[in-house]
Amino acid sequence: MKVAIVGGGLGGLSAAVSLAKHGVDVRLFEKNQHFGGKMMSVNEGGYHFDFGPNTITMPEVFQDVLKQGGLNPEEKLPFAKLVNHTRNEFKDGTVFDFSTDRSYMKKQLAALDPKGAREYENFLLEIERLYRLSKKHFLHRTFSGWKDYLSPSLAKSMTKVRPLESMDHFFKRYFSNPHIIQALNRYSTYIGSNPYQAPATFSMIAHLEWNDGVYFVRGGNTKIADSFVKACENVGVRLYSGTKVTRILHENKRAYGVETSDGDRFEADHIIVNGDLLQAVPELIDKNARRSLTDQKLHSFDPSISAFVIMAGLDKKIDRLKHHHLFFSEDYKQEFNILKNGYYAEDPTIYICTSAKSDYSVSPHGDNCFILVNAPALTDKAGYDKEAYKSHIYDRLQSSGIPIKDHLRYEKVFDPTAIKDTFGAHRGSLYGPSSNNKAQAFMRPFNKSQDMDGLWFCGGSTHPGGGSPMVVLSGQNVANQILGKLVHIE
Ligand SMILES: Cc1cc2nc3c(=O)[nH]c(=O)nc-3n(C[C@H](O)[C@H](O)[C@H](O)COP(=O)(O)OP(=O)(O)OC[C@H]3O[C@@H](n4cnc5c(N)ncnc54)[C@H](O)[C@@H]3O)c2cc1C
Repeated sequence: MKVAIVGGGLGGLSAAVSLAKHGVDVRLFEKNQHFGGKMMSVNEGGYHFDFGPNTITMPEVFQDVLKQGGLNPEEKLPFAKLVNHTRNEFKDGTVFDFSTDRSYMKKQLAALDPKGAREYENFLLEIERLYRLSKKHFLHRTFSGWKDYLSPSLAKSMTKVRPLESMDHFFKRYFSNPHIIQALNRYSTYIGSNPYQAPATFSMIAHLEWNDGVYFVRGGNTKIADSFVKACENVGVRLYSGTKVTRILHENKRAYGVETSDGDRFEADHIIVNGDLLQAVPELIDKNARRSLTDQKLHSFDPSISAFVIMAGLDKKIDRLKHHHLFFSEDYKQEFNILKNGYYAEDPTIYICTSAKSDYSVSPHGDNCFILVNAPALTDKAGYDKEAYKSHIYDRLQSSGIPIKDHLRYEKVFDPTAIKDTFGAHRGSLYGPSSNNKAQAFMRPFNKSQDMDGLWFCGGSTHPGGGSPMVVLSGQNVANQILGKLVHIE
């Protein structure tokens, strides 16, 4: 069997490994020079930055790809766990750390949120329950058509994952301190969504961070993508970098190959599109051959949020900065409303990942600050001034005691336009459709084309959704479908 994969993000690479391991002849085409898609290494000026995934959860998902590729994960992907993993800082001076150390969490809650201290254990149990249900019913399966939603077991489980409640509402059941609720609400941004709209089901993300933990890879998280490439090579995947696919070849409602920008054609029994579906489908498939994904349908999806990123290499180490450090806005609801309306927030929540805090080797000269602010998906609304917004973020950090500007030795800005152009991301959004409404949250675009046989989709814009472990599962789930395997998860 031959399979062609369009896009070498984590989803495409994981699908390639799973297929090639079973003897499938796999060719993977990536338009960029690097593989890994949004997980992209930026090594400049003596600094290493992990563009994209900085917060890593579910390490076993990545390790499994390496095992399938015949590699030793302990050796190739040295994951380390951060116990007190995320510092949340607020303008009134409040500091609250997220940690897997239960006694430390209880101590902090006792001081800041007596209700939270009482409910903490119940909260941990409930988020674990949400995670287990999602894992059993959603994470390890593909959605190939409407009938998949009609299965009685799925319908029953849907009712148990709090689909009608918002994340914000759910967190307020257990906590009363507005700062702690704000910090928890930030988990909605991991799926590019708004905590006042996204279903409480996604509060399971808190399980990954509060019960299990946050991890990083020594030498840089981008080693995950590098090791996936090695796994691909190990099982015989043919990798083509700098090769853009320009058309999906099809006839009589059957996809049979791809055409690249060089005019080369490659025939295959199955084609998997890993590039953002909302952008790739209109680029690659003739209008009259995609009745279920018309331009109108594709435009009807509310896109997930984008990001404004500054990679700042400093000439010193700022002791106050933690590996994952947040500086929260005063009014989170307003911040999301501004984003929803297509504008940049005046008072944005600023996330900084300084991986050198835990791994000196990635940036020996000074801090490697990956600064991320939520940004709206690109619209036709009035643009913004990139330089002015960057300076505004530096000023905001300065007022919080983080003097980036004074110590800059290297700087690179990556905004929604760069995200769109570099990764083929629809309107620069990070995860394809948002999960802001129930229909989009649970009924993402199907993994199997409704318009032609032999065409599949994996990655953040489809099931189970965005975030690095999810897209890896997505690739494996599609590969399993193509292989005709049934995967049973305990
Ligand atoms: C700034 C930022 C921060 C993030 N932070 C985190 C985090 O902390 N933790 C986390 O887990 N996740 C994070 N993510 C999300 C995570 O990076 C993505 O969900 C995941 O990497 C997407 O993988 P994917 O398989 O969907 O493909 P993508 O990474 O989107 O890759 C798709 C690939 O397809 C290629 N392509 C598209 N069209 C074509 C074509 N026609 N021909 C050839 N190639 C094509 C693109 O060039 C791209 O390389 C972040 C993302 C961003 C951008």
